[in-house]
Amino acid sequence: MTERALDGAPPQTPGSLTRPPQVDRVEASRKAVAARRARAALKRDVRMRVITPQELLRRALADPASPAGTMRVTEFLTSLPAIGEGKRDRILADLEISPVKRLGGLGARQRRAMREFLDARWPEQSARGRRSRLVVLAGPTAVGKGTVAAHIKEHHPEIMLSVSSTTRPPRPAEVDGEHYFFVDDAEFDRLIAEGELLEYATVHNSYRYGTARRPIEAALEAGRTVLLEIDLQGARQVRAAEPSATLVFLLPPSWDELVQRLVGRGTEGDEERALRLRTAKGELAAQNEFDFRVVNADVASAAREVVELIQSPERSS
Ligand code: 5GP
Repeated sequence: MTERALDGAPPQTPGSLTRPPQVDRVEASRKAVAARRARAALKRDVRMRVITPQELLRRALADPASPAGTMRVTEFLTSLPAIGEGKRDRILADLEISPVKRLGGLGARQRRAMREFLDARWPEQSARGRRSRLVVLAGPTAVGKGTVAAHIKEHHPEIMLSVSSTTRPPRPAEVDGEHYFFVDDAEFDRLIAEGELLEYATVHNSYRYGTARRPIEAALEAGRTVLLEIDLQGARQVRAAEPSATLVFLLPPSWDELVQRLVGRGTEGDEERALRLRTAKGELAAQNEFDFRVVNADVASAAREVVELIQSPERSS
């Protein structure tokens, strides 16, 4: 009975009984950090044009407790292109919105004013008129265009997926005539010279890629739908050559996800990756030139959405 001290309670530090429960504070600050991160990711999506400002406003009003809904109007405005703090304050004064307001808490008149302001500066393009059965699928690098197109080819044999010609050498599993027609520079020059290409471009500053005109015309004449999976430069050329072509832009679910996909692919070095991300940023900025936008969160759903757009008989705005 000599060691009494051993069975005593653990020593108490001064004040340990009066402090608020540790777990509550930790949980609250964890939630605050997560909400701040979610808002920062959304602002990045607007800045990188993965979503339009109007889309962010719609999300905010649909759910005021969401990251979009809890975003302050001041934060929202400065995430838009070319709006600094001075301009932001003038806009808020014009719209008669207090700078402490959150997007989800805008009143009916303020929502209308904000919407009108956004529509005037960044009009959202809606689908124009009836489109033809020539369909272009484009989108930023690493968004998964190839995978979505391959999924459509596998599940919808009635849709013709155009086979491009390229000067790039084949990758191990690629088959000539199935994935691409692999040609040399002289042959590519001939295709251009003889007007056989509907469009062509040098992609990622390296190889040339082009779409043969004749097989496409034949398929369209036979009443088939034709899908081109090409880059943005090519999409613009198709638009110029065939203004009624249907242009579909494939979007990543978020900018962070696009970066993840590019990094995850692991096929490019640091420098090449940085170059492709810069290209992707420019490509995203072109999405309003397209008739439709489809988010590629999962391949099967994105492919289904593209097919529905293609097959719906009255694809008018
Ligand atoms: P990859 O070399 O990885 O197969 O394709 C590289 C890029 O070239 C992709 O962005 C793809 O969309 C684009 N591409 C493939 N075929 C064509 C084409 O015929 N024309 C144009 N403009 N781009 C193409």
